[in-house]
Amino acid sequence: MYPGAMEMKARKRTIAVRIGGVTMGGGAPIVVQSMTNTDTADVGATVTQVAALARAGSELVRITVDRAEAAAAVPEIRDQLAALGVDVPLIGDFHYNGHTLLAAYPACAEALAKYRINPGNVGFKDKRDKQFSQIIEIALRHDKPVRIGVNWGSLDQDLLTRLMDENAQSPDPKDARAVMHEAIVQSALISAERAQELGLGADKIVLSAKSSAVQDLIAVYAMLAARSDLALHLGLTEAGMGSKGIVASSAALSVLLQQGIGDTIRISLTPEPNGDRTLEVKVAQELLQSMGFRAFVPLVAACPGCGRTTSTTFQELARDIQDFIRDQMPEWKRRYPGVETLNVAVMGCIVNGPGESKHADIGISLPGTGESPAAPVFIDGEKVTTLRGPGAAAEFKQMVLDYIERRYGTGAMGRSAAE
Ligand code: SF4
Repeated sequence: MYPGAMEMKARKRTIAVRIGGVTMGGGAPIVVQSMTNTDTADVGATVTQVAALARAGSELVRITVDRAEAAAAVPEIRDQLAALGVDVPLIGDFHYNGHTLLAAYPACAEALAKYRINPGNVGFKDKRDKQFSQIIEIALRHDKPVRIGVNWGSLDQDLLTRLMDENAQSPDPKDARAVMHEAIVQSALISAERAQELGLGADKIVLSAKSSAVQDLIAVYAMLAARSDLALHLGLTEAGMGSKGIVASSAALSVLLQQGIGDTIRISLTPEPNGDRTLEVKVAQELLQSMGFRAFVPLVAACPGCGRTTSTTFQELARDIQDFIRDQMPEWKRRYPGVETLNVAVMGCIVNGPGESKHADIGISLPGTGESPAAPVFIDGEKVTTLRGPGAAAEFKQMVLDYIERRYGTGAMGRSAAE
């Protein structure tokens, strides 16, 4: 936790929910989750993607369960993941036919750690309540939590129409957007109440109320957090591709997180064709880490470069170090407890280089254009050496490794006790 983060952002205390081996809410660290985009009926492809997401750091992974073949595949997916040593809890995403699939495939209902349902499309008209009850009863039978996930795009139309009518007759009508916000919040809260009437504990319910517009999302979650103590899943739906999706999601979620709202996040990025699905996990982790809520990987501070860095050496070294750290993290996490709090600086010239490098645990200040070809290295605020020549990058990498071994390796505790 970043020093001072707690004063800035007292987290709203929600009711803790246990999902497989993961605790969400109740003051637990904010959980990172993601969703596959494979056909769940394709066991091999889904296992590969879930494993990749889990290895990238996703603590929960949601999979689509849309038809019989997908439901039938879930236990096999669970088993194959276990054989690979991947125990990430799986969440089943159900729309329209969840009640049928969960009833017909009890092994699927058991293999999943949580069910996600959307009250807007659990069923239509008089079937809605019955089908909603059936899903909750199955969750009770298998002792599973449920996410009640309202979505702006599939909002319960009966509820919205009723609130719009009431608003139209009110002496002081609100604008249509405010009524929409109220409908989203009510849809989530009414469904949660109904689930509790059916016997599902508050410690088995997670709420979400997603929208694709940043300001709507912020408004709706602020209302939801003020009116409920249930654990909250945050995410901007249909955030989009590339930088647009990353910026929109980060803008919306960081405002809410800063207000202490949110127990789990998912960044819904549209991947490039054949793009890397794990990007959404990296973005979620980086968002939480840059706000000081959690630490996942050592941070590499690098200056943006400017006219003083006309060679590409410093960009290459910054990227190299960043990739190196990401690649090594699964192994380092095991071997070097606490390594995720390490700060590394890779700076481009003498203007801010030495200063920034001194603030990092280990930092290098590369020579800018016209400076003498020497790169001072700082460890714990002290200049320890100056690297020169084409081998400087490799030498610095080795120094980072040595520092990690010294500070976080198995001998570190014994050494510090002896010191
Ligand atoms: S540290 Fe030097 S190279 Fe980097 S942005 Fe500042 S002036 Fe430019």
